[in-house]
Amino acid sequence: MEIADIPVIKRLQEDVVNRIAAGEVIQRPSNAIKEMLENSLDAGSKNITVSLKGGGLKMLQILDDGHGIRKEDMKIVCERFTTSKLREFSDLSSMTTFGFRGEALASISHVSHLAICTRTKDSQCAYKATYADGRIKDSPRPTAGSIGTQITVEDLFYNVPTRRKALNNPADEHQRIADVISKYSIHNAGVSFTLRKAGEGGPSGGISVRTQQGSSILDNIGVIYGTKISKDLISIEQKNTSLKFEMHGYVSNANCSMKKFILLLFINNRLVDCSPLKRSLANVYQTFLPKGTHPFVYMSLKIEPANIDVNVHPTKHEVHFLHEAEIIESIQRAVEVKLRSCDTSRTFYTQTLLPNVSIDLSEVTTKKSNSSEIKTYAHETIRTDGKLQKLDAFLKPQSANSSVSTSNDCQQDIMTTLTEPVDNNARSTADKRISKLPVQNLSGSVAMEIDSIEPPSKKLCVESLPLAKNDDQISKASNEKQKSDTTTSSFPKRKHVRLTSVLKLQQEIKENAHDDLVKVIGNHVWVGCIDPELALIQFETKLFMTNTSRLSEELFYQIMVFDFGNFGIYRLSEPVPVFDMVMLALNSTECGWQPADGNKIELAKNVVEFLKTKREMLADYFSLEVNEEGNIVGLPMLLPDYEPSMEGLPMFLLRITTEVNWESEIECFRTFCRECARFYSVRKGYINMPDLLKNTQMDTAPDDGVIADSSVDCEGSCFISQNSDAKSWKWVVEHLVYRALQRILLPGKSMLSDGTFLQLASLPDLYKVFERC
Ligand code: ADP
Ligand code: MG
Repeated sequence: MEIADIPVIKRLQEDVVNRIAAGEVIQRPSNAIKEMLENSLDAGSKNITVSLKGGGLKMLQILDDGHGIRKEDMKIVCERFTTSKLREFSDLSSMTTFGFRGEALASISHVSHLAICTRTKDSQCAYKATYADGRIKDSPRPTAGSIGTQITVEDLFYNVPTRRKALNNPADEHQRIADVISKYSIHNAGVSFTLRKAGEGGPSGGISVRTQQGSSILDNIGVIYGTKISKDLISIEQKNTSLKFEMHGYVSNANCSMKKFILLLFINNRLVDCSPLKRSLANVYQTFLPKGTHPFVYMSLKIEPANIDVNVHPTKHEVHFLHEAEIIESIQRAVEVKLRSCDTSRTFYTQTLLPNVSIDLSEVTTKKSNSSEIKTYAHETIRTDGKLQKLDAFLKPQSANSSVSTSNDCQQDIMTTLTEPVDNNARSTADKRISKLPVQNLSGSVAMEIDSIEPPSKKLCVESLPLAKNDDQISKASNEKQKSDTTTSSFPKRKHVRLTSVLKLQQEIKENAHDDLVKVIGNHVWVGCIDPELALIQFETKLFMTNTSRLSEELFYQIMVFDFGNFGIYRLSEPVPVFDMVMLALNSTECGWQPADGNKIELAKNVVEFLKTKREMLADYFSLEVNEEGNIVGLPMLLPDYEPSMEGLPMFLLRITTEVNWESEIECFRTFCRECARFYSVRKGYINMPDLLKNTQMDTAPDDGVIADSSVDCEGSCFISQNSDAKSWKWVVEHLVYRALQRILLPGKSMLSDGTFLQLASLPDLYKVFERC
């Protein structure tokens, strides 16, 4: 290449640079309007009128009654980086007014013909000036006008032909402007907004948006989006001092279903986009709305200005902020809880949207007990009985457990094999049936198998549990147990726990129990699973949605507290190194390890050493067995046949060292039991049964010489073979978890309001609705 051919680098002319920059800030008329609206609101306006010609491309005018601009400032108002709002760089972090970079007017003046007419309250008259390329054309001229500012933008993008050509649909631009004004009018409900088409008469006077001064947010949502929506809104509020944010707004309930998701998000009073927040809100609503329908959300967030980064996008539309993930998660939770607590309104459009504060059980029970003469109407008739058993409850491997299982024991033994005949050691059983349950391959390298030691009969395992809800029942249970102990000496004698800390924890659970909820869970009739985390149950004439994760966590906590020191054991066929597990946990995203936490290997070693020092206590109290080499060899059997998902083991091992308070006895028991309950609880992410089955068949069938084929057509008869379809977790949830909940759980008072129990329908109310049809 000849030297003459190499292109010469030239400096761009300043006005070209400015025009490019302007084009980034102002991309279409609606961006200009947004900036100017924010200026008017900053100026304390109470009435704002926007007039448009050609969708704002021909003419766009905004008139406000704010404090106006001083005559002497009019000269520089359109220069780049001139602002009355920002003086030093440090102000950037504490600025709470809207646009703060002094760029908007300058940008607009580079791509349009701009005129400002303004009057402050101290001035005798208004002044008018025109601007081009960031500069005033001639000195401001006095003119008549009221206090406030009128800014007129004509021929937007007249000097950016490509942009002008791209914006060839005035109706579309008008619609976008109407959308921005509508949203600001909702957020600033006290201010009156008007949008009109200039020079248009007719009955509407060309007005497309109008809100009144002093109206409420709900009024304006009703005016703009329709009263049907505003009726289906629930107000929501949240304040979080540690994450330094406040949120308030209105979210649609489960009755309201829109064709598309409408989100009005204001962060520090600016209309912004925040895609992660939008996504997480959409996720929450998925559970509540029918497929293909969407919610309406108006949300105003106030975040510490220092934590916001508004400069990500030139139009400052997409916002990022510090602690974004935590804040979003916290909002998501708040919305979810709110929706759950208001979800009763879904079924009856007559019902108020207030949270379901108390479950009125009296209407049914008192009427029943009053006198037999009182007629029971159809709408009060209870047609179900919580004590009824279903046939499929028996279709599980353990139900056919005889004291000795042989390989001919039909299909239930398919994946099982007999090992050493008797192990009288500790809490293992006389006829130790070992079913090999390979657990999901955790990391690709650590594969485990668990030998679950199953009690020989349902009766026995039942008695090994705190099935009683009060002391009488507990003592009765242990009496019976002693009787049965004589026939089967397999179970060790129940240890009598006299630790005051444990008794105190038991007392706490009893005192905190909510009487009505105890009745509901204790007498419910199973309806079905919605997903692994949610289920439906019926109690008398009421239908409830229950949160299985929370209930099961509480269940396992209560089992641990009431049966303290008396659990059975799942003994692992191969010891699981604590070190490997903790490394897995530290490498997981859930853990959130940071370099400041220290070297992972060191941390993992510390955990191993720590658990080794607690070996005796862990084994004695919690049946968590750690051997001298620092491997896990046994896990507590909290509920017979129910195995925790081993995917939770790494996190559990890490958390018992970090989250458990090892200092005080009672707190140690409380926090340990909580962590363990968390590990055992039914959780969505951990249910992955088909994989489990694949491993089971491949790994164990050939070795054990079992008849693998017969499992195939043995539908529902074996827990393990059931794993082949997604129904298996449903069986576990229905027949193991909810049965145990029915027998054991004492639901706490908070479960009434935190979304664990939600009343969805009641028969009398449904009758009311049908009668009206
Ligand atoms: P910024 O809003 O970031 O300060 P702008 O370019 O949007 O920058 O506005 C520049 C300045 O013009 C503002 O700081 C404000 O002092 C003044 N101004 C603009 N619009 C108005 C208005 N409607 N009423 C009063 N002052 C205004
Ligand atoms: Mg501004």
